[in-house]
Amino acid sequence: MDYQGILREIAHEIQPLLGQGAVADYIPPLATEDPNRFGMAVRLLDGSEFVAGEADHPFSIQSVSKVFRLALAMDIHGDGIWRRVGREASGTAFNSLVQLETERGIPRNPMISAGALVTMDAILQPGGQRDPGIAFIQRCLDGQPVAYDDGVADAELATTHRNRALAHLLKSFGNLNNDPEDVIAAHTRESAVTLSCRDLCRAGAFLVTGGLTPAGSRVTEARQAKRINAIMLTSGVYDEAGDYAYRVGLPAKSGVGGGVLAVMPGQFTVCVWSPGLNPKGNSLAGTMALELFTTMTGVSVF
Ligand code: GLN
Repeated sequence: MDYQGILREIAHEIQPLLGQGAVADYIPPLATEDPNRFGMAVRLLDGSEFVAGEADHPFSIQSVSKVFRLALAMDIHGDGIWRRVGREASGTAFNSLVQLETERGIPRNPMISAGALVTMDAILQPGGQRDPGIAFIQRCLDGQPVAYDDGVADAELATTHRNRALAHLLKSFGNLNNDPEDVIAAHTRESAVTLSCRDLCRAGAFLVTGGLTPAGSRVTEARQAKRINAIMLTSGVYDEAGDYAYRVGLPAKSGVGGGVLAVMPGQFTVCVWSPGLNPKGNSLAGTMALELFTTMTGVSVF
């Protein structure tokens, strides 16, 4: 397969879409991102990598972090985590409040904001690390330093009224153990981690290899990796999951920074970044790039 040629072709074909999406403006520093930027990387099971555009430019991973957070929560709590959060598609926007009230404080899944606040609460152990989620991403990268942008984290923390509402609603239903403010602060820090497309392809390698990092160290069990991929497929792109399965055909997780990590178990990770978002909150050009990738390679989980 001529992956390099395919990426070159995709980078060319998505040009007209650049700038069409809207950058996330509810987190002030993200509002200044240039929607014309684009990067893409592919990492195969054998470690070979192919890139196009700004594949080495670090961006705010935002909700892509929810995949790593879930992996750690499943590792710590096993099936116990599923008493606190569901495994069904939400059919709602990532930051919606309505379902949480009617479903009495049990978020539909760990990929929407409410569910990710629960998984953050679950990994914050009394007397434990300040940022266990970030430390886990670092483990997935075999110790490569992972940092968050404190300007992005502070700006989100100052304006995150919706997440505050969700966290306090969760607390009112008895589904947060920690102080809501501590959970929100840790959530904003992990969301503000900056990684490039190439980094994310490496960090997500454990989803392709059945739980092993690029250097071969185990970060989760093979059956857990399989389950995380299932949840990415049904919930990773919020209420666009059906369209993603139809157009892209890979488990994927997006973030409002414009990144999307997608996985073909046993074969490759592919990551795209372009800050312009579609109305569902997923990268507009990035989604098309993924669709073109599975079309041109002829590979999808289906
Ligand atoms: N930190 C962002 C938030 O909680 C992440 C949202 C996202 O990427 N969908 O709103």
